[in-house]
Amino acid sequence: MQLVREPEAYRRACDAARAAGHRVAIVPTMGALHAGHMALVEAARARADWVALSVFVNPTQFGPNEDFERYPRTLEADVARCEAAGVALVYAPPREAMYPAGEETRVRVGATAAPLCGRFRPVHFEGVTTVVAKLFALTGPCLAAFGRKDYQQLRVITRMTTDLFLPVEILGVPIVREPDGLALSSRNAYLSADDRARGLSIARALSAAVRRFDAGERDPEAIVRPALAAVRAAASSVDYVELVDADTLAPPPARLGARVLLAVAARFGATRLIDNVVLGEDGPPLAAGA
Ligand code: AMP
Repeated sequence: MQLVREPEAYRRACDAARAAGHRVAIVPTMGALHAGHMALVEAARARADWVALSVFVNPTQFGPNEDFERYPRTLEADVARCEAAGVALVYAPPREAMYPAGEETRVRVGATAAPLCGRFRPVHFEGVTTVVAKLFALTGPCLAAFGRKDYQQLRVITRMTTDLFLPVEILGVPIVREPDGLALSSRNAYLSADDRARGLSIARALSAAVRRFDAGERDPEAIVRPALAAVRAAASSVDYVELVDADTLAPPPARLGARVLLAVAARFGATRLIDNVVLGEDGPPLAAGA
């Protein structure tokens, strides 16, 4: 497995892989890899025979008071994990390689980035689209795997890829959870035992919502109100518990259709957790009675 730090060397490796007849895939990450990331690698490997994984804690997607400095950085362990999983190349550029002196261009986001996390993290999605566009430009024609854990990110990147005619096929991969329902996240490492126990309120609230929806409930308030109450009772603060259109992320109709996204963002201690289910599509994160 190759470890590459320089953008042009990464571009050359992707070009060479395609020239040798491989289907190229990229799994973009910020590192501190866990089983959620490795599910993206597996999904990519099922569809492409040359899989690269990037590790880059992207400064432009963090707000001024967010956790950029203390974000977990575990490159050595990440590289070992990738090697064991059959990744062909890890691309881990330094900050100055992705944002060299004089750079100034940003990919401006639109309506898909405005609700949910966009309301609470104003620069976040512009940072994401900018770094992912840079990564796609270096990778060239490829498959790119993203987790449904960051559902809005997946939709924003899908929109950007369509809008900019980028030669990339986007693959959305289901959320990987701990046995007790907590969605895996590199930020879970910040949680105290108490935060973590309270954080399970999210998976419980989402599960109850799935059951209500699957039993025929179509009144948005009757889904959101109990979910919000349950998360509010356990969280240090709640950014949102909201239903939105699963494709456009626009507000839902007064009576819900066959498929709708229920998304949650809340803080437990200082740690912000996000999670979601697509009602009408996903099963409950927790088994009945859990
Ligand atoms: P991150 O390193 O947190 O930026 O995440 C990199 C990619 O892994 C993103 O596409 C995430 O959506 C995805 N991801 C993170 N956690 C999970 C999870 N628990 N299940 C599925 N995908 C995930």
